[in-house]
Amino acid sequence: MQKFTLHCHTNALGIFDGQNTAEEMISQAEKLGFEAIGISNHLCWHPNMQHSHPMFMNDEQKTVTMFKYILEEIRTAAAKHKIKVYVGAEVDFFPSAAWRNGFERMLKQLDFDYIIGSNHFIFKPDESYLCNIYHLDLLPPSLGKEDFNKLVRQHWDNVVNTIKSGYFNFLAHADYCVIKIPEFPNLEASRWKIIEALDETRMPFEVNTSGFNRINMQHPCDWMLKELCRRGVPTLLSDDAHSVSMLGQYFEKTENLLQSFNCKNRVGLEILKK
Ligand SMILES: [Zn+2]
Ligand SMILES: [Zn+2]
Repeated sequence: MQKFTLHCHTNALGIFDGQNTAEEMISQAEKLGFEAIGISNHLCWHPNMQHSHPMFMNDEQKTVTMFKYILEEIRTAAAKHKIKVYVGAEVDFFPSAAWRNGFERMLKQLDFDYIIGSNHFIFKPDESYLCNIYHLDLLPPSLGKEDFNKLVRQHWDNVVNTIKSGYFNFLAHADYCVIKIPEFPNLEASRWKIIEALDETRMPFEVNTSGFNRINMQHPCDWMLKELCRRGVPTLLSDDAHSVSMLGQYFEKTENLLQSFNCKNRVGLEILKK
């Protein structure tokens, strides 16, 4: 069974959405006999970001300062343990030059071991408006069904953009959006585009087991996962743990699923070298 996770969260600075400290997460990973743990708090930054959660940032310099502190905190905790600890971030990708330039400036100042490409927002094509899929109640009441669908379409297309961006070590929860928006015109076509992009780029994708808690399904869904395995796209397990009790969650069940899909291309910590 896979003995590491590279996708988990802490409650750093009292604003991030994990429930435990880096110290607690590292200790628990060690107790579980993991060979490594990578901590990947959310890097949700965009100049037009609404500050609807304390960890959603629109100030570039503040974001850098915050992550410098978090990186230091994790590495200080890691120094007290034997287990190998990596420091990453789960980054919400946006395609505009404004976002890319800002993000590239941040990367030069932040010493991450790896970064995960992720998508939690629906947004207008010009990125003038962004909304986390957990905060759909903040959408303007005047927004019609067709306009809403355009925002959702942008989200799914952006998963493909994230894959093709070349920034990331692996892709987070490919079809996360279905948690909150399970129905969408041509949803299957969007899923196929993601499969094609992963196959074309050979970018590793995670099988995210946190979906079992929310929709009784891993991400990506069964048929996508089966097809990705058939094509031999590299994959790894992620628990996306937001608390110590979630570390390694559903790994055994998901290992069995991967085996039943005849998955041959499992990747490990070597994907961190990029
Ligand atoms: Zn996520
Ligand atoms: Zn996550």
